[in-house]
Amino acid sequence: MDTADVVIAGGGIVGSAVAYFLSTDAASRGRRIVLIERDPGYREASTARSAGGIRQQFSTPENIAMSQVTLGMFRQLSAIFGADADVAFREQGYLIMAPPDGHALLAENVALQQSMGADIALLDVAEIGRRFPWLATDGVAAAGFGQTGEGWFDPTSLAMLFRKAAAANGVSIVHDRVTAIGVRGRIETVALASGKTIACHNLVNAAGAWAGALSALAGVKLPVEPRKRLVYVIDCREASDALHLAPLTVDPSGVWFRPEGRVFLCGKSPEENEEPPVGDLDAIDHIFFEQQVWPQLAARVPVFESVKVTNAWAGYYDTNTLDQNAVIGPHPEVPNFFFANGFSGHGAQQAAAAGRAIAELVGHGAFQTLDLTRLGYARIVNNAPLAERNVI
Ligand SMILES: Cc1cc2nc3c(=O)[nH]c(=O)nc-3n(C[C@H](O)[C@H](O)[C@H](O)COP(=O)(O)OP(=O)(O)OC[C@H]3O[C@@H](n4cnc5c(N)ncnc54)[C@H](O)[C@@H]3O)c2cc1C
Repeated sequence: MDTADVVIAGGGIVGSAVAYFLSTDAASRGRRIVLIERDPGYREASTARSAGGIRQQFSTPENIAMSQVTLGMFRQLSAIFGADADVAFREQGYLIMAPPDGHALLAENVALQQSMGADIALLDVAEIGRRFPWLATDGVAAAGFGQTGEGWFDPTSLAMLFRKAAAANGVSIVHDRVTAIGVRGRIETVALASGKTIACHNLVNAAGAWAGALSALAGVKLPVEPRKRLVYVIDCREASDALHLAPLTVDPSGVWFRPEGRVFLCGKSPEENEEPPVGDLDAIDHIFFEQQVWPQLAARVPVFESVKVTNAWAGYYDTNTLDQNAVIGPHPEVPNFFFANGFSGHGAQQAAAAGRAIAELVGHGAFQTLDLTRLGYARIVNNAPLAERNVI
């Protein structure tokens, strides 16, 4: 039987970040680390289907700090990964608008973000109109705008940088599927579809939207499930150059859009009682665009009255149904089973911080840099949600 110090189940951006940070942590030097990914093509992986946004406009200090870790890496990408490293970071900001009854909350959130060093401006309506003349401000009281440090990037490129560096540092990358987990108080073994079994000292769940299913193999409940989200690609011939430089703009209704080259991406998370069925990512609901996305979009950006949907795709949010926040840390009763799951639509920008945190817990037994205790599994046991107000 093969043996590993750490098995990482799932090789998307989160599993790749865990592998990378373990491979660079002196405490884990010489350890055998195995990353297992069932699909080398990453066909359904959320990382490959993400919109790639990165922002500091969160309401939970941990979420702000986690995005700042990724931003810090972007600022030193070449120094970390080499001169050619590129994640296509477009630093065009986020513009998150609030209606009159959301003004106080927005101001509170922006004050927290600013107190943590984020370059977020609280704009009144006149200032929104001045900076973004293509926008209709009806029903908007104010907006938070990330002047620097926010925008979007290519999550697949960052995941590949992590994976390549991890492999160069000795991590074994195995294409196989975890089908069973042997537990006796602790995780003992991981069985694979190929018939192999690996005895392991630590197991990291990095299975994304399938993390709940992976946990179930160990008899552990994790409230993480796939939620289908659609991204529509729209072409707008009349869009001005200024609109092509727009930030990722979030309407009070939840409808969002951002430029992507000469076209635009847009979408909206459905209401809780309107969640579409999961299972077929090729099934695209164009009626949802017609009825729930486009009317709001055209009301907010009048030139979008005339757009053409040129493409669309679907992917899964890795939704933590307790509170839409990540679960990071060990299981209290199975202490060598670690979670890096439930990012609920903000995992691309949090993967680096999550990977580093797991490497610290595995290598040192405690967080060394960012204290993410509040994101631990204990809140699931205690049914005590840690709510994030800015989920898009
Ligand atoms: C439409 C959309 C838009 C998004 N927009 C943003 C955004 O703007 N900003 C942001 O930060 N985040 C965004 N996200 C969320 C972000 O993409 C995810 O949170 C992140 O990619 C999760 O990474 P992961 O590595 O955990 O999951 P994944 O990328 O899904 O990787 C998990 C991997 O685990 C593998 N796996 C599962 N089970 C097993 C098993 N039993 N054995 C072996 N391998 C297994 C899967 O094959 C998969 O490759 C978006 C997501 C979607 C779908």
